Amino acid sequence: MKETLKRILLIISILMLCMMLIDKSIAINMVDLDKQKKEVSERLNQKNKQLEYVKEELTTALLEIQKLEDEILQYETNLTKYEAQISKLQKSIDNAIDKIEIAQEDCETREEILRDRLVEMYKAGDVTYLDVLLSSKSLTEFISSYFLMRQIVEYDNLYIEQIEREKNELEETKTKLEKQQKEIRTVKAKKEQTTTILTNKKILQKAQASKLTKAEKELQKEITEYKKEVYRIQGLIAQASGEEFLPIQYTGGNMIWPVAKEGTAITSYYEQREHPISGIVHYHSGIDIGNAYFGTPVVAAMDGYVSYAGWLGGYGNCVIINHGDGVSTLYGHGQAILTTLHKQVKQGDLIMEVGSTGNSTGPHLHFEVRINGYTVNPLLYVNEPT
Ligand SMILES: [Zn+2]
Repeated sequence: MKETLKRILLIISILMLCMMLIDKSIAINMVDLDKQKKEVSERLNQKNKQLEYVKEELTTALLEIQKLEDEILQYETNLTKYEAQISKLQKSIDNAIDKIEIAQEDCETREEILRDRLVEMYKAGDVTYLDVLLSSKSLTEFISSYFLMRQIVEYDNLYIEQIEREKNELEETKTKLEKQQKEIRTVKAKKEQTTTILTNKKILQKAQASKLTKAEKELQKEITEYKKEVYRIQGLIAQASGEEFLPIQYTGGNMIWPVAKEGTAITSYYEQREHPISGIVHYHSGIDIGNAYFGTPVVAAMDGYVSYAGWLGGYGNCVIINHGDGVSTLYGHGQAILTTLHKQVKQGDLIMEVGSTGNSTGPHLHFEVRINGYTVNPLLYVNEPT
């Protein structure tokens, strides 16, 4: 009897020790997982901060490019204007040159005529009133011829002088126009230089922007990985603490996959269009997620509050979550609703069970994303798990 009691006590002791050890190992595992989750969350926060910084820098770079483009356009417009001015001045200069040439020729011709006339007079001897008198038939003719001759010489002289004056004026105008043209050319050359500098700056900025875009993409990829890791650890924590394990799937984007079961997939896509050939209007306000059985957990795709929980016509048992900023999600055909109206929910919280209530032929989740009440393609917010 004493031996039996001893043995029972020993067994109990061993059992208690074992339980303590198991309990302790679970506790250690939980602490470990919590620590892991904190670490990953910390890294996730850091990456998010980095992403914000990169996005800000990218915005600045893009604004700078826009500014440079505007400036370049301004300079190019000015260059075209200067080009027009230069060619207009060139026309005036050419015109002046032509006129100068004509005046020059005119002057030469006149001078020649005058010279010839003077030579003739010289050949004929010194032109005196006597010569003219003798060659004149009458006194009247003499007077008229004599004065006429003198008048002609004087007139020619005046005319040549006038042409010379005009020619000089034209030369001055030409010089002035050429000076103007030279000045504009200098301004134009400076503007061209500035345009080149700006264009080079723009090229550098574009390179910087593309570098930032690449950095943004890489950060977003890293963030997706960290988020996946956080959800994975969360699942492990739930498992370790004896809670129901929800295989929550984060596949990038703002929302998580609303069905917590691996292997579920889209069986009907979002469609808002008329078939180009048949003319039949396809209309599907959300995506259908199939390969999910009755009772599969449906989870909140994003944080928010429950703005509808109950029967809703063809949707059957339906939950609508308002996420703020005009964004809401709708979950239809549920077997059971596991949340209540006005309840605050976190991303990944259990809200419904997959069913086939309402207008449905088999168990699936009908999932909608609405912006200000209008449906949009849910794949803009959530990716299908691969
Ligand atoms: Zn549907």
